[in-house]
Amino acid sequence: MQRIDIDGVPVFTADGPARTTAALVFGVGLRDETFATIEVTHLVEHLAMGALPKSHLRCNAVTDVDTTTFHATGRPEAVGAFLEGVCRALGDLPTERMELEVGVLQAESCSTAHSTLGALWAARFGLTGPGLAVADGPGPEYLAEETVRAHARRWFTRGNAAVWCSGTLPPGLRLPLPAGPRPERAVPQARPQTGPVWTTGHGAGVGLLLTAGGAGDPALTMGVEVLKERLRDTARHARGLSYSVDSLALDLTADRREVAVVVDAREGQEDAVAGLLWRAYTELCASGPTAAELAHAVAGFEEELDADERAVTESELADAAYCAVGGLPFRPVQDVVDAWRTTTPERVAAALRGTRSTAILYVPEGVDYPGPGAPVERRYVCDVQGALPVGQTFRPSALARLLSRDSRVALVVGEQELAHRDSDGDVHSIPWELVEAALPSEDGRAVVVVGRNLCSAVVDEQRFGRRAVAAVQARVPAARWLPRPRTAGDDLVEAVVPGAGAAGRP
Ligand SMILES: [Zn+2]
Repeated sequence: MQRIDIDGVPVFTADGPARTTAALVFGVGLRDETFATIEVTHLVEHLAMGALPKSHLRCNAVTDVDTTTFHATGRPEAVGAFLEGVCRALGDLPTERMELEVGVLQAESCSTAHSTLGALWAARFGLTGPGLAVADGPGPEYLAEETVRAHARRWFTRGNAAVWCSGTLPPGLRLPLPAGPRPERAVPQARPQTGPVWTTGHGAGVGLLLTAGGAGDPALTMGVEVLKERLRDTARHARGLSYSVDSLALDLTADRREVAVVVDAREGQEDAVAGLLWRAYTELCASGPTAAELAHAVAGFEEELDADERAVTESELADAAYCAVGGLPFRPVQDVVDAWRTTTPERVAAALRGTRSTAILYVPEGVDYPGPGAPVERRYVCDVQGALPVGQTFRPSALARLLSRDSRVALVVGEQELAHRDSDGDVHSIPWELVEAALPSEDGRAVVVVGRNLCSAVVDEQRFGRRAVAAVQARVPAARWLPRPRTAGDDLVEAVVPGAGAAGRP
């Protein structure tokens, strides 16, 4: 693998077949958005792709939680023209096509909400950073042209880009991106936690999220590999409760990584799978893996490297580009294997134990699961409180309360917060400074208030009266109001934050 620079962009190359595969990677994704701007990165990506001339080149683009990648495979000249075209388009977005591309995004419905990963990240971070994956957001029709352009200017710059190329480097390749440094990325704050917790949400599988140090130490990675193997042996092979066990590491900074283990579960078996996952994890924390298990993990890694040389080269190139845009240290895969070979069971056990106080176990909502037991505490998706605070209180009429359980709700507009008791009796509270977004309904008779703590409230005239809506309108910070959508939106009283709807359970 070689590294060169083209127009100020690092380019990682390796020899390969006559057909070239190349990718242009940017260090920007969902974690760099806010609730109000969810999908803005994806929209920039679509606008750039839409600006390219028609061709038969095999190309595509993808936006995920921390990167955006444009890639193509074909004749070197064609791949070069593609990369250059993307760079030019990013420097001058064809925002006149916004309406069209917003429609495409709406139709694509590529929502990541309701995923197990999203639920895990939200349990860690609330409605910020990767935690945004739990929400659909207001929708791309709320994005103003200037918001989209500003996002592109800040993130799609030379300093925040890298290219990898396998095969012949396109002759005379140019990467005319706008100048600009790699932006300082916000590191999302984790909710306070002093020991393991368990939580529920709308994703289908069972999961475990652990906070670790950087990617440099292979011990935790190996521990997670052994954990997955034990789950395959128990949940899948011995008991037939699940089909797949996966893990994903998200590097927030060079020394802070979130590792998720996600296990699917046959319907009705989620509680059993959660029990197996938690037991396998705690047993590994306590006694570590056996030497044979570690040897098996190393052998699996070695076999993967032997199986498909080209795939290994491309994944290593992609990793180098990813590390470049993420500001992470890159380690050649051969170094990683060597480190695996010398890692002891004791070190793996210590690495796993080091994550214990950060562990979040996840099961789907509605599953009859009592949790792993003490000392693992229940964590609610949002901030559920014991009682309503003091403040101006609004309730549906006495008659409505008498007739319907759904009307036994209350709203308090307080000095410090907006609070809401739902029909289950749970109190949700949004401190005013944690209001992330407020969306007025089209007729102005309702407001949806969304909190960074994942609590949300629907304040509507029909239930709480006109004065309640006015009181909330007076309190919400001006900067938090979303602009009117460019196209008529759907009914805003639809839950905009799955898992934290005003009427939803905590
Ligand atoms: Zn809540």
